[in-house]
Amino acid sequence: MRDEELKVELLCRGMRVPREAWDYYKRSAGFPIRFGDTLVSVPSKGKYDRYSFVENSPYSIMRSDERWLLLKDGEVVREVEVAEVPGFYSRRSSDGVEMRRIFQVCGWDCVLTGVVQSCAYQRHGEECRFCGTIYNPVYEGRLDRKLPEQLAEAAEAAAQEGIKHAVITSGVMPTPDRGARILLEAAKAIKERVDIPLEAELAPPEDMLYLELLLEHVDSVSINLETLDQSVREYACPGKSRIPYDAYFTAYELALDALGENQVNSWLIAGLGESDEAVIEGVEELAERGVFPFLVPLRSTKGTGYEDTSPPSPERLSGLAMQAAEVVKDFGLKPEKNRAGCMRCSACSPVRDFLRLV
Ligand code: SF4
Repeated sequence: MRDEELKVELLCRGMRVPREAWDYYKRSAGFPIRFGDTLVSVPSKGKYDRYSFVENSPYSIMRSDERWLLLKDGEVVREVEVAEVPGFYSRRSSDGVEMRRIFQVCGWDCVLTGVVQSCAYQRHGEECRFCGTIYNPVYEGRLDRKLPEQLAEAAEAAAQEGIKHAVITSGVMPTPDRGARILLEAAKAIKERVDIPLEAELAPPEDMLYLELLLEHVDSVSINLETLDQSVREYACPGKSRIPYDAYFTAYELALDALGENQVNSWLIAGLGESDEAVIEGVEELAERGVFPFLVPLRSTKGTGYEDTSPPSPERLSGLAMQAAEVVKDFGLKPEKNRAGCMRCSACSPVRDFLRLV
């Protein structure tokens, strides 16, 4: 099996992590492993138990002497790499908060944080049905709000340990900036303290001035439509789907003008109930606008509206990733030129990997 196909298998089916490997978890959302040029944030079951679909996965990982082995049905598939847990996890900010609660390793050499981890839509029961944020606090001693100074200190500590880029995100706020102001404060504080490439992930603000201000302090952005099938979008995101497409398209233009090519992406989720055609139409619509279609499979997370929905099959995701890679190539997008965040990391999406095949 090619590495690209193995990645898709792991993204769609997950992997079981035995107790002796629990110390190597960096966060609950995925267990990062690397083989060859391929990095995967594998939905896992072990210390954390976020995904019921993983119970049926044939894949598991084990440590044998100094080596890490990926197994399928108990047979070794191949040797893989697992990164050490970084030292900053055991440090504290000057106000005494464990840094592992401020920033968490995401992928290999990236850290991520939810600056504010609540969402305005949650208050009215209109949160996105796939959003795993509401499940996090059970496991991770979640800090609902990280202060700019805490973020700056933790980002600096992470950079000293070899972390190369960072992602900041927030729930949608019930204000005209929709959360961009909080990200702006965070980005300014981080950049004043440490020279680390930074991605902000946000919804398009109602008042685009806030986006323009934020763009002065970040290197790339992720503005996620998730699906361009409006009926699926209304089901999956009862609140966020009221933000019109035009607001996204305006935000993409502003971001591309300010940050340049290959610095803007949108997550697209396969498995929300859409057709293959809708996925590829969405990929084309985004790529044509210069936005990288960061296609990921649904991670059916316990406690969310998609808890009982299976992720797409590996066969379906491979087919979609191959088509998406062809579109990306046709429009000349180059994820390897991305400076920070998900496009640069790509542990959650197979599109960048499949570009090697087209
Ligand atoms: S692709 Fe984004 S969310 Fe996934 S592991 Fe990398 S930085 Fe984290």
